[in-house]
Amino acid sequence: MSATVRGATIWTVQLEPGELAALDPGVPETLQRRPDVLVVGGGMLGVCAAVACRDAGAGSVVLIEAGRLGSGASGGAAGMLVPEAHQGVDPDALVDLGRASLARWRDLETSVPGGVGFLDLDWFGLAPYPEAFAADPPPTAEWLGAAQVQRLIPGLAPAVPAVRVPGQGRVNPLRSLGRLAAGIAQVATGCAATAVRTRAGRLIAVSTPAGVITPGAVVFATGVPPRLDGLDLRVPSGLVKGHLAVTEPVPVILPGMVASVATQLEDGRLLAGGTLDTEDATAEVRPEVIERIRSDMAAALPSLSGVRITHRWCCWRPRHPDGLPIIDRVPGLHNAWFTSGHYRTGILMGPATGAALARWITADEEPALVKPFGQHGRFSE
Ligand SMILES: Cc1cc2nc3c(=O)[nH]c(=O)nc-3n(C[C@H](O)[C@H](O)[C@H](O)COP(=O)(O)OP(=O)(O)OC[C@H]3O[C@@H](n4cnc5c(N)ncnc54)[C@H](O)[C@@H]3O)c2cc1C
Repeated sequence: MSATVRGATIWTVQLEPGELAALDPGVPETLQRRPDVLVVGGGMLGVCAAVACRDAGAGSVVLIEAGRLGSGASGGAAGMLVPEAHQGVDPDALVDLGRASLARWRDLETSVPGGVGFLDLDWFGLAPYPEAFAADPPPTAEWLGAAQVQRLIPGLAPAVPAVRVPGQGRVNPLRSLGRLAAGIAQVATGCAATAVRTRAGRLIAVSTPAGVITPGAVVFATGVPPRLDGLDLRVPSGLVKGHLAVTEPVPVILPGMVASVATQLEDGRLLAGGTLDTEDATAEVRPEVIERIRSDMAAALPSLSGVRITHRWCCWRPRHPDGLPIIDRVPGLHNAWFTSGHYRTGILMGPATGAALARWITADEEPALVKPFGQHGRFSE
C-alpha cells in the first residue's frame, strides 16, 4: 500500500503559496551526480539527516524524494513533540532520544532562518494514567486535582485529575520541512531511487529517473526500509494507518495538548485523533472514524456537541514489529545508513536522529544515543 497522505490536512492550508511550492521544487537542472552525501527520502527523517550532514561539515548534500517533501507520514502527522508522554511507558532509550531531539528542535527554531515553526506546548494527561507512567513520572510532572483541571479546562466531562508536563512542543510538520529543506544544497522531488549498485562493501551508485548518482555516502530515510534492486535489506516492517480531524474555530480554550481529547491550534481550531487503525487495510479516509473522533471529543467537551469538522485526513506510520525505530548502518555496506520505523514519534525524533547519523558518517563512530536502535538481534534474522 502507498503511504501517501490521503484527505485534506490543515497543514497545507496554513502554508503561504511560496512555502507550498518549496515542498515540490522538481529536479534541479544541474543535479549533482557525485555528492558527498545522498539522502533518499524527503520526510522528516531524511530532511533532518540532510540538514545535520550539512551542519556537520559532511560536504555536498543532495536529497531525493519520490513524491514531494512530506508526501509520506511526515506531512500528515499531528506534529506533537512530547517526549515526556513516553516516560515509563516506552524504553528509556526512546525517551532519551526524544528529549535530545526536543532540545534540537528548540535549537533549530533559533538557528534556521525564519525558524522552523516550533511552538511551545504544555501536555496534559488525564487520569487514569498508564500504570508505568504513574510509577515513574517525568521529573517535571505536576499533578493537578480535578478542581484545578476544571479551572484550566472548563466544561471537561467528567472532571478528573490530570498530570501537566510543561515545556513540550509542536510544529506544522510541512512548514518545518520546507524551512529545513531551504538549507539543503540540492533537493530533487519526483525523483525516486529505483536501484543501487554495490562493490566491495560500498554502495557505489543509485539509479533515479534523473540519472545515476554516485555518492560518497548514502542515508536511506524512506519510512519503512527501502526495497531497491541491488540492495539486500530485509527487515520486518509494516504501516499502521491513523486518522486526524480538525474542527472549525471553537470558543473552548484548551491550555495545550489534552491527551487524548484534542490540541488547540493557532486560530482556535482543535486537532484530534491520531487513531491506531491496525485492522484497516483501506487506502482512504473513513467517515465513520472521523465521526468517532468528533463524538469522542464532544463527549469530553459537551459544549462542542455540534462542532463541525473542516479538515480530515489519514496517513500511515512506518513500524517495525517492536515499535521502535532503526538507526543503523546498512549491513555489509560501509558507506550506507538507514533509519526507518519511527512509528508514532518520527517528527519528534528527526533532529536527534539526523544529528546522530551525521556524526556517524563524519566521525565513523556510532553515537551512543542511537546504539540501542541497531537492527542486529532485534528480529529473527
Ligand atoms: C496519524 C499520525 C499522527 C502522527 N503524529 C505524530 C506526532 O504527533 N509526533 C510525531 O513525532 N510523530 C507522529 N507521527 C509519526 C510520524 O508521522 C512518522 O514517524 C514520521 O513521519 C516518519 O518519518 P519518515 O521520514 O521516516 O517517513 P516518511 O514521512 O514516510 O518519509 C519517507 C519519504 O521517503 C520517500 N521515499 C520512499 N521511497 C523512496 C525512494 N525509493 N526514493 C526516494 N524517496 C522515497 C517517500 O515518498 C516519503 O516522502 C504520526 C503518524 C501518523 C500516521
